[in-house]
Amino acid sequence: MSRSSETKAGNRHDADRGTERSEFNLLRYFSLACISVFVVITSVMCTGFYHTSKRYIRIDAEQHAIPIAENLAPIAFVGGSIPNPGTPEYVLLDAQMREFLKPLRMFKIKIYDTAGRIVYTTDPNLAVGQLDPGNDKLVASLAGAVVSDLETDETVWDLQEEVIHKGTVVETYVPVHRGGDPGAEILGVFEIYQDVSDTYARLPGVIALIVVASVGAMIILYTILFLIVRKAHLIIRSQTQVIRQAKADVEQYAVELEQRVEERTRQLRETLAQQQHDEKMVAIGTLAAGVAHELNTPLGSILGSTQLALDFCSTKLHEVVEEEPGTDGYVGRQQCVQDLQRVESQAKRCREIIRNLVDFSRKSDDERMWEDIGDLTERSILLIEPEARKCGIQIETSIDDEMPPVWINGNEIQQVIVNIMNNAIAAMNDGGVLSINVSNQNQTARLKITDIGNGISKADLPRIFEPFFTTKDVGKGTGLGLSISFRIVKDHGGNILVSSVVGEGSTFIIELPTGLTAVQLDSP
Ligand code: ADP
Repeated sequence: MSRSSETKAGNRHDADRGTERSEFNLLRYFSLACISVFVVITSVMCTGFYHTSKRYIRIDAEQHAIPIAENLAPIAFVGGSIPNPGTPEYVLLDAQMREFLKPLRMFKIKIYDTAGRIVYTTDPNLAVGQLDPGNDKLVASLAGAVVSDLETDETVWDLQEEVIHKGTVVETYVPVHRGGDPGAEILGVFEIYQDVSDTYARLPGVIALIVVASVGAMIILYTILFLIVRKAHLIIRSQTQVIRQAKADVEQYAVELEQRVEERTRQLRETLAQQQHDEKMVAIGTLAAGVAHELNTPLGSILGSTQLALDFCSTKLHEVVEEEPGTDGYVGRQQCVQDLQRVESQAKRCREIIRNLVDFSRKSDDERMWEDIGDLTERSILLIEPEARKCGIQIETSIDDEMPPVWINGNEIQQVIVNIMNNAIAAMNDGGVLSINVSNQNQTARLKITDIGNGISKADLPRIFEPFFTTKDVGKGTGLGLSISFRIVKDHGGNILVSSVVGEGSTFIIELPTGLTAVQLDSP
C-alpha cells in the first residue's frame, strides 16, 4: 500500500473510532427524558392537587360557615345589636352560642360590629370592644363579601378553651344583613373558626397515593415505551452496523482500486517501455537488414575479384618457384598472396555476417506445426551437451508432465534455445549447473534457462537484444544471436524476458503461447 493510501486508511479508522464514540445512545437519552418528564409531571400534579385540595377544603368550610352565621344572626343581633358584655342578655347569648357550636366542628366565633370592633367572642383572651385594625378580610367582609382563609399549624381548642391540638384551621368572615336580606344593611360580621385538621391530614396520604399511582402508571408506560424504543434502537443499531460495514467495504474497495490502478499504471508503463524497446529492435533490425542487402552485391564482387586475383597470384607464385626464394620479386608476390588471402577471409566473414543479417530480416518459409516444447528442449540440450561437458557444466532439466503443444517453427525455436544456452555456457567460465525448466502458466509455455555465470551489467542489459551488441572477443561473437532470437520469439507471439545479477548469473525466460492462442496469433 502506498504511503498516501496508508494515511487515508489511518484517517478513516480515526474517523470510525470517533463515530463509534459519538454514537447516539437512544435508550440512554430516552430513559433520561422519561424520568425527567415523569418527575416534572408528578411534581406538577402533586403541587396542583395540594393547592386545589386546600382550596376545596377552604370553600367547603366556607359553605358550612355561611348557614351557621345566618342561623346565629337572629339570636345575636336581637334588636339589631349585640347585648353589652356582663348583661344577662349577653350571658344568655354566650350560652346559646356555645350550645349551638358544641356539636359542630366550629370551635371559636367572633362577632364584629360595622366599625370593626369585637362585640362578641368565645375567646376569653380577647376583650369585647377591641378593634382589629389592618384586617383586610374583615374590611372586605364588612363591604359585603364572604371571605375565608386556611391556616396550618394553628392552635385548636374547645369551647372551654382547652387546647386540643395543633392543626389546620379555616377562618370564615360572613357578613350578616338586617332581616337576613342580602340587599339590606350589614349589621356586623361573624368570624367563624373551623377545625379542618382531619380533612387536611388526609392530603399527604392522597398525594402519596397519587404519586404511587402515577409512578405505577408511568412505570407501565415507561416499560411499554422502553420495549418499543429498544426494538427501534436495535433496528437502528443493526442498520448502522450495515451502513458502517458498507462504508468500510467501500473504503476497502477504494484502497484496492487505488492499488489496482497503481499496479495497472506500472504494468502499462512497463509494457510501453517494452513496446518502445521492441519497436527499436524492429527498426534497428530493418535498418541492418537493408544495409546488409545493399552490401551483399558489392561484397560479392569484392570476394569474387579477390578470389580471382588470389588464384592468379598463387599461380604466378608457383610458376616462378624455381626463382631464388628471398629475392625481392618473390617476397613481394608472396606478400601479395598473403594480403589477398586476408582480404578473402575478412570478406567471407563479412558475407557470413550479412547472411545472418538477411536471415534476421527474412521470415522463415518453414511451416509451423504442433510441437511438444519439452521434447524440443531435450533435443536442443542434446546438441549443446558435449560443449557443456567440455566446460565442466552440468545441465539440470525439469519439464512439467502435462505441457500443452505449441504451434511453432521447431527449427527456429530450437535455434533460439541453443543460442541462449550457448551464451550461458560462454558466461560460466568456472563451470557449474545450468538449470532448464519448462512449465505451463496461464496458457503460456515458459522455458526458463538459469546460469550461474558472470551476469550482465545494468548498463548492458537493455542493449543485449540490439544487433551487433557483443561483449565477446573479436571473432568469437557477432552480436546477432539474441537479436535474431528476439525476432523469432516475437514472430511466434511470444516474449523473451531476462534478469541478471553481475557475479551471480542470468535467467532468460522464453514465453510462447499455447493451444488456440498460438494458432490465432499465427493466422493473418
Ligand atoms: P554474441 O553471443 O555473439 O555476443 P548475442 O546477441 O547472443 O551475441 O549476445 C549479446 C551479448 O549478450 C553477449 O555478448 C553477452 O555480453 C550478453 N549475454 C547474452 N547471454 C548472456 C549470459 N547468459 N550471460 C552473460 N552475458 C550474456
